[in-house]
This record gives sequence, structure tokens and C-alpha cells, in this order.
Amino acid sequence: MENADALHVAVFPWLAMGHLIPFMQLSNRLAQKGHRVSFISTPRNIGRLPKIPSHLSPLFNLVSLPLPHVDGLPDHAESSSDVPFNKQNLLKRAFDLLYSQVAAFLEASRPDWIIYDYASHWLPELAARNGVSRAFFSLFHAAFMSFLGPPEALIDGGSRSTAEDFTMVPKWVPFHSNVVYRLHEIAKNVESLSANESGTPDTVRFGTVIAESDVVAIRTSAEFEPDWLNLLVELYPIPVLPVGFLPPELRDGEEEKDGKWVYMKQWLDKQRVNSVVYVALGTEVTLTQQEVNELALGLEQSQLPFFWVLRDPSVSTQTEFPTGFEDRVKGRGIVHVGWAPQAKILSHNSIGGFLTHCGWNSVIEALGFGRVLILLPFLNDQGINARLLHGKKLGVEIARNERDGSFTRDSIAESVKIAMVDDSGESLRGTTKEMKGLFGDMDTNDRLVDGFIHFLLENRFSTTKNINLLL
Ligand code: UDP
Repeated sequence: MENADALHVAVFPWLAMGHLIPFMQLSNRLAQKGHRVSFISTPRNIGRLPKIPSHLSPLFNLVSLPLPHVDGLPDHAESSSDVPFNKQNLLKRAFDLLYSQVAAFLEASRPDWIIYDYASHWLPELAARNGVSRAFFSLFHAAFMSFLGPPEALIDGGSRSTAEDFTMVPKWVPFHSNVVYRLHEIAKNVESLSANESGTPDTVRFGTVIAESDVVAIRTSAEFEPDWLNLLVELYPIPVLPVGFLPPELRDGEEEKDGKWVYMKQWLDKQRVNSVVYVALGTEVTLTQQEVNELALGLEQSQLPFFWVLRDPSVSTQTEFPTGFEDRVKGRGIVHVGWAPQAKILSHNSIGGFLTHCGWNSVIEALGFGRVLILLPFLNDQGINARLLHGKKLGVEIARNERDGSFTRDSIAESVKIAMVDDSGESLRGTTKEMKGLFGDMDTNDRLVDGFIHFLLENRFSTTKNINLLL
């Protein structure tokens, strides 16, 4: 598509599939409007990106930068799905070492804008020095970002550094809220939020990209969380633009030739409408053997059909199912190990609910197809997402032991049944269906992205003022 006023936009996500995918969705929308996109990542991640539609590919420049070596990080590890959670901070250290390659790209290519993620705390200043305008694209919704707080509190780091600090509603939230971490979630999160092996705490990464960008684009809508979005506008020194949910674009025929999908679809086609629980925990969560047992036995106990996707054992812990489990659920349940076409599966009309780790991509995909959520958060923003969704009656949170975070087969079976079939879940299923348009409708969501693209067009020279300040 011709566009006389076209922009050249560089795009640089954090090295995680859950980030690469939505950054690519945003890039597709930019290209659909005729803008040129330079998508920057490492070779393996570039190879794993969703396919760019052929009519848009002339507008794409895939910029492949080799990831520098860092001791302790396996050589093949280029995304968070390649390494266990406790090695993520080494991946961040390697990511920071991409600085000089990104600098060389910006000097040579001088895009109008660069859109980046929370991890690139060194990029806003580098971009300004090259006369490139800067947008931080937050894949986290307004409630999570407000929970983290204003940039000065994040950079200062001292204002909230203990586990207890993160389990309370922050003092800058002026309304009643259940958006907090639970104590058992914090042990895993507080280390990367405060101090960590990457050399830069996540709080400083977040604070810097908020303080030094020209705009924050945020993957949400004012209709979904008006109070949190208003609060964020007050907390941030720069414009905050909701860009909608960027729902996945399913292209007919893409997977039809893939034997794996053909087999899955045959099984799904045999199930009743809205009867199957889809179970998947994203690309970063690793289950212990005990958790696999309880989840398996809980699904068995629910007596409902299920489709369970487990992470590849080469990057996850090798686990076994409880004795006799596979025989007992034969025909009723299906377990797939490895990558599965999640959005495609969720779009199948036999799926009724989604037992999810509450990754924001997964949540958006499920709500966009009107699937009810069964919430089992583990890491990062997942606990906060679960509280937000539970509060909005869009999901039922699986009960856990408050002290050690463990869950039982009974709590799994109980929540699954409430969400899928019990009378007590009737209103939950109704609220979820009402959200389908907001999360999944392309036109509604495109209007919000268009507003952001309009901002990029109108403000493309804004960094000249930053350059003057730096000189
Ligand atoms: N995904 C997929 N197949 C898989 C595992 C994950 O398609 O086997 C996709 C999923 O649809 C989602 C993303 O990977 O778009 C995972 O992002 P999310 O935010 O849900 O979780 P994360 O992996 O970041 O924890």
C-alpha cells in the first residue's frame, strides 16, 4: 500500500515469545498503513516470528543481531523460553550487550521512531542522540503499570523493596483495589524487581523507559480499565496512549497442511461446543513434579474433556504423569508436549474455558474468543493479572496455600467445574461472553492502534527538542 507520508519505525522487543508476538502484531498494523518497519531481534528469535503476510513483507526489514555471549547462558538461548526462570537475568545481561549493535543500526538507518520494551533502559538516551523519537510499548496493562508506580519511585528502588511492600495496595492508588501480589508469588518476583544478576533491577528498567520516552503505548483500552488508565496518566510525565488489545490475526489455511494441527483439529471437531478445557501455561512457567501430579489428577477429577499443552521437556523439567493417568483419561483428554498453535486452538468452538497462567497474551486470546478463564498464576505480572480478572468476574482463581503457594487436585477440579458447568459459574460465563467484542473485534481494536499511529505521524520530530537538551 502506498503512503506518501510514510514513517520508518524501528521495533525492538524484549527477548521473549510473549513480547515478540505482540510487537510483531503492532508492526503488522504499521505496515498495513504503509509504514516501513525495521524489526530488530536475534537470529533465532527472528526465525521463530509469526509469518509476515506476503503483501506486507516488502515493508519489513528484519534486523538480525547476534546475541553476545554471557557466561552461564547456553549458546542457543536467545529467548526466555530457552532458559529456566532463574537464568532470565543472564539473558538480560546479554540483551544489554546488544547496545553497540543497536547504536550502529540507529546511526546508519536513522528511523523516525523506535518502539521498545521495558528491558531497554539504555535505549531512550541512545535514540535521542541519533535524533530518533522514542515510544515505550507496555505489554502490561494499566493496572499492573500503576501498581509498579511512577518512574521516580521505580528508579529510586528504595520505596518498595521488601516482599511485604509488594503485597500491599501501593500508597499512590486512590481507590479500593484487590490488585496486589500474594506473598508466595513475591519470592520469585521481588529479586528481579529489586536487585539481580543482570546488573540492573527491573524497577530501574521500567522507570527509565517511562521517564525518558516521548510516549507510552499501552496494550489495553479505556473501556476495560478506566480508573487505572486515568491513574497512570497522573503518575506518568509523558502521554499515555491505549493501543487496544492487538488480538491475534488468524489466517485461514496457514496450519491446514501441518500434520500436528490436522490431528489436533480432528480431536477438537469430535467434541461438543464449549465443552473442552484448554490448559496451557505459556513459555516461561516450569512445573514441579508435584504440580504436574495435582494438575493431572485435578483435570481427571473434573470429569470434563481437556486439551493440555506442556512445555518442551528440553527447556522444562522432565516430568511424569501419575500412574495410570493416561489410560484413565484416554479419549476424554489430550496432552500435547511442545509448541501448539494456541490462538488457533482457542478459536475452535469446542473450547469453553482456558486454565491459564494468566500471561497477558493468553488472556487476550481467550477473552477475544469468549472463553471463560481458570486462573493459575506463577510469575512476573501473572498474579496481578489474576487479581484484576477475578475482580472483574472474568475468571475464577484456583485456591492456593497462602504460605507456600501449593495447589491441590481438589482446588483444580473445583475451579474448573465452576467455570465450565456449575450453576454458580453462570454469571462468570455471561460476563466473559460480553467481553468478546472488546478483546477480539478487529475494527474496535484497530481504531485504537490508528490513534497511536496518528500520534507517531504528528510527533515524529519531537526528539529534536531532546537533542537540543543533550547538546
Ligand atoms: N504460545 C503458543 N503456543 C505455545 C505456547 C505459547 O502459541 O505452545 C503463544 C501464546 O498463544 C501467546 C504467547 O505464546 O501468544 C505466550 O504469551 P503469554 O503472555 O500468554 O505468556 P508468557 O509465555 O509470556 O508467559
